[in-house]
Amino acid sequence: MSTTPSKPTPMMVQYLAIKDGVGSDALLFYRMGDFYELFFDDAVKAAAALDIALTKRGTHAGEPIPMCGVPAHASEAYLARLIKLGFRVAVCEQTENPAEAKKRGAKSVVRREVVRLVTPGTLSEDTLLDARDANILAAVVTGLSGDAALAWADVSDGSFQTCALAPDDLLAEVMALRPSELLIPETLYADWADQGLTLTPLAPTKFDRRAAERLLGDRFDVASLDGFGDFSPEEIRAAGALIDYVELTQAGDRVALAPPRRTMRSGWLSIDSATRASLEIDRTLQGKRKGSLLSVIDRTVTGPGARLLGSRLSRPLMDVTAIRARLDAVSQLHDEADWRGALLSQLKATGDAARGLSRLQLGRGGPRDLITIRAAIAAGEAINADLAQRPNIKPEAELDAHLRALSLVDKSELAQLARNLTKALVEDPPMQARDGGLIATGWSPEIDRLRSLRDETRRSVAALQGKYAVATGVTAIKIKHNNVLGYFIEVSPKHADTMLGRDDFIHRQTLVSGVRFTTTELSALDREISGAADKVQGLELAEFEQFRETVSALAAPIRHIANALAALDVYAGLALWALESGATKPVIDDSVALEIDAGRHPVVEAALARGSATRFTPNDTRLDGAGIDCPRLALITGPNMAGKSTYLRQTALIVLLAQAGSFVPARRARIGLVDRLFSRVGASDDLSRGRSTFMVEMIETAAILNQSTDRSFVILDEIGRGTATFDGLSIAWAAVEHLHAINKSRALFATHYHELTELVSSLDGAKNLSLRAREYEGELIFLHDVKDGAADRSYGIQVAKLAGLPPVAVARATAVLERLEAEGTDLGIADLPLFSTTPPVQKPQPSAVEEALKAVNPDALSPRDALDLIYALKDKI
Ligand code: ADP
Repeated sequence: MSTTPSKPTPMMVQYLAIKDGVGSDALLFYRMGDFYELFFDDAVKAAAALDIALTKRGTHAGEPIPMCGVPAHASEAYLARLIKLGFRVAVCEQTENPAEAKKRGAKSVVRREVVRLVTPGTLSEDTLLDARDANILAAVVTGLSGDAALAWADVSDGSFQTCALAPDDLLAEVMALRPSELLIPETLYADWADQGLTLTPLAPTKFDRRAAERLLGDRFDVASLDGFGDFSPEEIRAAGALIDYVELTQAGDRVALAPPRRTMRSGWLSIDSATRASLEIDRTLQGKRKGSLLSVIDRTVTGPGARLLGSRLSRPLMDVTAIRARLDAVSQLHDEADWRGALLSQLKATGDAARGLSRLQLGRGGPRDLITIRAAIAAGEAINADLAQRPNIKPEAELDAHLRALSLVDKSELAQLARNLTKALVEDPPMQARDGGLIATGWSPEIDRLRSLRDETRRSVAALQGKYAVATGVTAIKIKHNNVLGYFIEVSPKHADTMLGRDDFIHRQTLVSGVRFTTTELSALDREISGAADKVQGLELAEFEQFRETVSALAAPIRHIANALAALDVYAGLALWALESGATKPVIDDSVALEIDAGRHPVVEAALARGSATRFTPNDTRLDGAGIDCPRLALITGPNMAGKSTYLRQTALIVLLAQAGSFVPARRARIGLVDRLFSRVGASDDLSRGRSTFMVEMIETAAILNQSTDRSFVILDEIGRGTATFDGLSIAWAAVEHLHAINKSRALFATHYHELTELVSSLDGAKNLSLRAREYEGELIFLHDVKDGAADRSYGIQVAKLAGLPPVAVARATAVLERLEAEGTDLGIADLPLFSTTPPVQKPQPSAVEEALKAVNPDALSPRDALDLIYALKDKI
């Protein structure tokens, strides 16, 4: 290694030029033989992220070059890890072989090119994706006129949509999509930086309208996009930037997206991101799928079905007719057990045709993707054939529409394609077409001929072994094969001389274990075999390519079939869940009623069913924005742990499920269409974003009071808790009045401020409810049932006892409470019987413990808080 700066090697010159093109925000995987190598900073970052060895290779500008590498055959696993960690990776391949490079000149470096930029939002490989989760790439823009738009696509299944909306609604919509990657104009970066999203800022020119129109027109082969919908300028700009980016990541290959579809935002029940998070719709607050509403109700049997269900739960509808159509579909499959069973088992046999199709179109597919397409077509045929056997079933409109899409299969080239694929492919083909062995016997006479030639030749080779054993007298002579030498003859070293003495045996190699030879005869057969194998490989690849083209040409109908199968899976899955969980069909209308008989929280109920002897206690909800005897706002009081939050959330989830088109966990439910759902539940810390709990709570409360309408449904849990008692009470008070008089929304409001119960009894459209608890032989028992009227007591001390507060502390708290209750809250701390053993002093200075106790509102304490308090008090002594 030289220590003086020397000229970079030709390879390094090439590397630096390619790296320069890629830029610093992506790691460069630089292909060298069987490895992808990384250099300089890339190597340092990747070695740390992947926990692999960091080495050095050569020098650059006098400094050793850091390097690390991953084997090409295992690169997907490493890519997956890097992408998960938020890296982007440019994959640079050798685009000629070393022999070709030599021809260009003795010192030429093998040509290399970046063939792909791997980013979180543009993945298509099965190994990099979760089968049951969409992988969304989204783009947002805002226009000068104050309009904004969102475009989003799932490169893995080719779906592509846009939506025009007001800038204020952008965040909520983006959160509903949960994109893996969000493209934004650089100028908006600051606004989006702290949302926990993976952002890819792009130059504003990437969002240019004219360029976008040209690009979209060209890609979808139309003079104007009008045929696909009435797109706003911002939608076109967002869609254009998105397509442009996808093509960049595929190194210029045309992308396989369906034409963009416009979605109407007004068509959805609006759920802001705080509400979405707190209701744990498709993720828990900890970010896990398990424990979410989606995970509990999901009975789909295919990846695409699961993804569609997730997207439906994320955007419930706002259109009575559309919701009823979905409910009718679930209802029919709920009642027709046989048909449902048959449907689910036919669906189970299908793979992920949408993703398979996209991979094939991107040139990244393999024979198994052809199999998923065949399976989808076959399932379509089978489902239709099965239905023909059930003359009594008249499919509901929603189901009928999807079944019709499947019947494309009967008439078209699709059936022919499926038949050909069945004949052409072996049962269990390899992952990659170039691995060979995918085409079944009987499909191509030429392949069959070459294969039998190859097999015959192999037999001739085997026969040679016996012949040579006789000719040489070496009975242990063996004919073997490896990839370097091809076929060769091997004898043990002790027979080497016998062989070396003969003219017809040509020496190839001497190893400790044996000496290797060939003959002209064997070399000829070897060439014949490998020639045949190469030809077979070429022919197999050509067959695969042919199928790939046929599939691409039929992409649109295949996508229809895949979509229809996913929708049927969603309906059958929801029907099955309804049956298993005892969910019923809700009545949806244009009223502002909310009537739920014996409603349940699906997730809490499922958790109880798994892990405890207690059963879930169903509860009714009755709110009505218009009715006189049925108030629209209810205040809910009751001790901690009594089930207030559960009751609030279950009601919100029932609304959400109903409008998503699902049955609901209740004996009966009637829901007047809700336009916006708001939830402000619990004091969740958001310190990572530098806001105090109280600030977050107030921002969310402000959003509710500013936006909620007389068609909205609001749940508010313990607001005002994050500040001093009287501040909190006043804010909660004002919020109740505002919701009641100005927003006029249907609302459930849980609180520990008993003072509010009196306010509520004075309001026309409000009522008090409470969750009951009983004391039985000194123990507190929660009944979990909702009753009319306010709670009489808060049982804070009993809850503290349940939480394991030391008996001495419980006794003391009871004494303090008794005094407080007897003499009022304006009692001075010195008046309390806390330190009766201390002689009275003239002017008592409050101690630290007293100060701390003074600030305490026992009713507002959770058991955990109470315990923490005791520790804190003890520390102060
Ligand atoms: P709160 O908001 O009043 O403090 P939660 O709603 O958090 O109480 O409920 C506390 C626990 O009580 C829940 O985790 C659940 O296990 C149980 N629970 C709540 N509601 C019910 C119910 N209706 N039936 C049975 N158990 C319930």
